[in-house]
Amino acid sequence: MRSNFYDVIIVGGAVMGSSVAYHLLISNPKLRLAVVERDPTYSQASSSLSLGGVRVQFSLKENIQISLYALDCFAHFEEEMAVNGEKPFINFREEGYLFLIDSSGRALAEESLTVQKKLGGEVEWWSSEKIKREFSILSVNGLVGGTFGRKDGYLDPYAVMMAYRAKAVSLGAQYITDEVIELSKSGRQITGVQLASGLVLNAGIVVNAAGPWAAEIARTAGVELPVVPIKRQVFALKPAITLVRPLPLIIAPSGLYFRSETGGLILVGRSMDEDKVGFDFTWEKERFTEILWPELARIVPAFDTLKLVRGWAGLYAQNQLDSNAILGPWPELKGLYLINGFSGHGLQQSPASGRYLAELILGRTPFLDLGSFSPQRILDNRPLSERGVV
Ligand SMILES: Cc1cc2nc3c(=O)[nH]c(=O)nc-3n(C[C@H](O)[C@H](O)[C@H](O)COP(=O)(O)OP(=O)(O)OC[C@H]3O[C@@H](n4cnc5c(N)ncnc54)[C@H](O)[C@@H]3O)c2cc1C
Repeated sequence: MRSNFYDVIIVGGAVMGSSVAYHLLISNPKLRLAVVERDPTYSQASSSLSLGGVRVQFSLKENIQISLYALDCFAHFEEEMAVNGEKPFINFREEGYLFLIDSSGRALAEESLTVQKKLGGEVEWWSSEKIKREFSILSVNGLVGGTFGRKDGYLDPYAVMMAYRAKAVSLGAQYITDEVIELSKSGRQITGVQLASGLVLNAGIVVNAAGPWAAEIARTAGVELPVVPIKRQVFALKPAITLVRPLPLIIAPSGLYFRSETGGLILVGRSMDEDKVGFDFTWEKERFTEILWPELARIVPAFDTLKLVRGWAGLYAQNQLDSNAILGPWPELKGLYLINGFSGHGLQQSPASGRYLAELILGRTPFLDLGSFSPQRILDNRPLSERGVV
């Protein structure tokens, strides 16, 4: 019979929960570890619905370091995650990230570029002429230049999540298909979780890796997190022209982003102020036809003729304090660890965040100082300043 006693229970088994599980077990294979995931198809997990972009182009030192670590990890990820000789295929395409810069964004772009280079990021300033030479389909009207991260790129986010999951299982993680309905505690110590099936699991350490549902589950233990689900839409389209080479992930000054996808598709999206808070997964064709398409066609005039193939909506677990990760123990409830609030950049942060949290749980010295993401800043109302796209 299955024991109900564990060393660590993880709530949510998508990319964050599975990365923590993997990093814990690779360091200590004797741990009794359960991951409770209510939806093994991951149909609403942000990890499945993500765009899978990886870039060093942030402004905050720690976010840049996390991405540099991710680029290193993803370079040998398939070997590291092999199970019985079977390697996953994450399809990392090093096509780069190109931020298009207008005069209002120039000072910040130059400042961030200096920090990125100082930390070892391979990012360069491109003049408008250089942008035109490299990608002649782009209009450079109104631009003063761009910043190009040549090691950046995009990958298959679902494959990354499933690779962490499969590897964690091979190391002994027990994935339980059920829903955590309450975090249990005794005084100021976490004691486990209650499941919808009626089962009670006990552990002195519980990790909240519930993505956009993180605040709901934390609240059952009296913990208030500033994390809300915000709907973000993505559209897949087939242009009339055939591109001579794949596009990098391109981000316009407005925040509109687009990149190539396999099968000659282009993926496009944009976070907007009117994006709704709530668990809503419907997508609106009009968002594309009326708002995004006209803007896209100004940047790429050849995209004035295209076919909208499909769209989808996923949720950002938006940290309303500062749009950055909330990573570490919750100071007011012993044994509760958080890996939440990644907003729009969690996929690329999963290798570093999972490892960091595992090292904190195991009482080891972390490989990277990510103390500035500590949950204490929520209690202190001390936002971090990341001025790049989040
Ligand atoms: C449209 C879109 C584009 C994005 N693009 C990028 C990008 O280009 N690059 C990037 O780095 N990031 C991107 N992101 C963000 C990234 O996808 C997320 O930050 C990351 O996937 C978060 O992973 P997670 O494991 O925390 O959450 P999720 O993937 O949402 O997983 C949470 C899991 O917890 C489970 N769960 C929740 N509550 C319970 C419960 N009570 N009991 C049991 N299970 C529970 C859910 O079923 C779910 O599987 C994007 C996100 C979206 C939506």
